[in-house]
Parts: sequence; C-alpha cells; structure tokens
Amino acid sequence: MADRLKGKTAIITGAGQTPGETIGNGRAMAMLFAREGAEVLCADRLLDRAEETVAMIAAFAHQADVSRDADCVGLIEAGKTRWGRIDILVNNVGIGGGDGPAHRVEEAVWDRIMMVNLKGAWMTTKHALAVMRAQDSGSIVNISSLAAIAGGNQVAYEVSKAAVNRLTTSTASANARHGVRCNAIMPGYMDTPMAVSGIAQATGQSTQDVRETRDARVPLRGKMGTGWDTAYAALFLASDEAAFITGVVMAVDGGMSTRMG
Ligand code: NAD
Repeated sequence: MADRLKGKTAIITGAGQTPGETIGNGRAMAMLFAREGAEVLCADRLLDRAEETVAMIAAFAHQADVSRDADCVGLIEAGKTRWGRIDILVNNVGIGGGDGPAHRVEEAVWDRIMMVNLKGAWMTTKHALAVMRAQDSGSIVNISSLAAIAGGNQVAYEVSKAAVNRLTTSTASANARHGVRCNAIMPGYMDTPMAVSGIAQATGQSTQDVRETRDARVPLRGKMGTGWDTAYAALFLASDEAAFITGVVMAVDGGMSTRMG
C-alpha cells in the first residue's frame, strides 16, 4: 500500500535519534510518513539529529525543545506558516535517565522527566489544537510506553507515561466534536538506540547482552520490536483508516502486557 498519508502534513517531535546502530521510533515514523505521501516537519532539541533524518527523506528540520513553551509555540507556528494547516502531530519525545524507585528518585530528576515527557506533550498538543479545531480535523498520536502500566522501578518515567495516556483520552474526549482525534501507542521492548545503547551505557553491559536479555522477555518469537513497529502503528492511527478511532491507548509490545513474569 502507498500514499496512505497523501496530501497530509505532519509534525513529529523527537524525529532525530540517539546515535546508534538501529533506528529510533521518531526517525522511523518520519521516514514512513514521508514514504506514504505526507509532508513532514522533523523537530528535535538537537537540530543536527533532525537534519540527519531529513537528509534521508524529503522533509524539513526544525529545532525545538518541547520543555520550553516558546519552542512549542514556534513549532506549531512553523507548520502552520509552511502549510496553512496541520493534519498530524506525533508527540514522540520521551526521556529517562537518573530515574529510580519512589524512595530514591531525586526531585530534579522527577521534575525534568515530567517536564519533557508530560508537560512537553501537553504544550505541543495545546498549541496544535488551536489549529486543528479551527480546521475541524486533525490526528494526534502520543508515544507513551508500556511502562505506563507495568514498569521496572523507574517511577518518574512510568508516572509520566501513565499521565500521557490520560492526556490522550482527555484530549480525545474534549476535541471529538471538532473532528480532532487523539490516540496513544505504548511500545514495549523496542530495539532502538536509546533503549539498547542507553541501558548498556548506564549498566556497563555490552549492547549484545542488553539485547539478549530484552529479547528473552518478549512473548512473540522472543524478539524485541523495532522503530518500524511503532511507526506502522502510528501510521495507521494518524491516517484516515483510523477515522473512527479516538481515545485509544494501544500496546505495541509483542504480547508483553498479556502475561506475568
Ligand atoms: P530517541 O532517543 O532515539 O529519540 C528521541 C529524540 O528526542 C532524540 O533525537 C532526542 O534528541 C529528542 N529529544 C529529547 N529531549 C527532547 C526535547 N526536550 N525536545 C525535543 N526533542 C527532544 O528515542 P526512541 O527510543 O526512539 O524513543 C522515542 C519515544 O518512544 C520516547 O517517547 C520513548 O519514551 C518511547 N518508548 C521507547 C521505547 C524503547 O524501547 N525504545 C519503549 C517504550 C517507549
């Protein structure tokens, strides 16, 4: 199938990626959306990362740190100025780092993770909604995490993603009348650079060991997903194929949420 997003305009945040050997969720979405006919604006806090993605497709790079409201305003304005409309917003930015269980996590770490993962997604959503409500259509896709419902002692990350799920359903409910849909994806274990290289660096393990441990925990064929699995789910939710779907929080996890242990 081709042209599933023909004529659509899309803003994707965190569309660069942490350097590494595999593809990140944001970059995979940008590539797939462009391949399916969308005009894509690739936003990242680090412009060179967004530019790397743009070099692979016909798209536009834009520097924006989603933890800064002025940057979120500028990002939506950039899309509106360029296209006159914004059909799709993907809130893909998500960070961890320095996190831990509730009795250990430090306030500054909690604040940073909440600011980027939750407040950032809300601010871009808020500004995009002004455009989408005026045009009586739009699709917002939030990249949450399976950690929203079952995690590993990373309390700030888990709570931020649980809140992203509720941001999704609340936004869906409040904007359905205006033809604006809002859905979320909860990726499980994905073989992206942030996850695999990030954990390897933080724990001192080799990337091969991290990969094997994560693979072994995935029910479906004992293999992690990839950025492409997240991207195909996002493509569906962003497209008109999902025209009657809003307020859904969808696990893309190889069956991980179906079992204990
Ligand atoms: P990634 O690190 O490869 O890409 C994220 C991009 O976001 C990076 O280029 C980074 O520079 C950018 N970024 C970071 N902070 C930013 C900010 N404040 N403003 C703008 N850009 C910023 O990450 P990824 O592995 O592709 O993950 C993307 C999303 O998927 C995240 O929301 C993450 O929580 C979620 N997720 C990933 C996994 C996994 O296993 N990789 C699992 C569940 C959920």
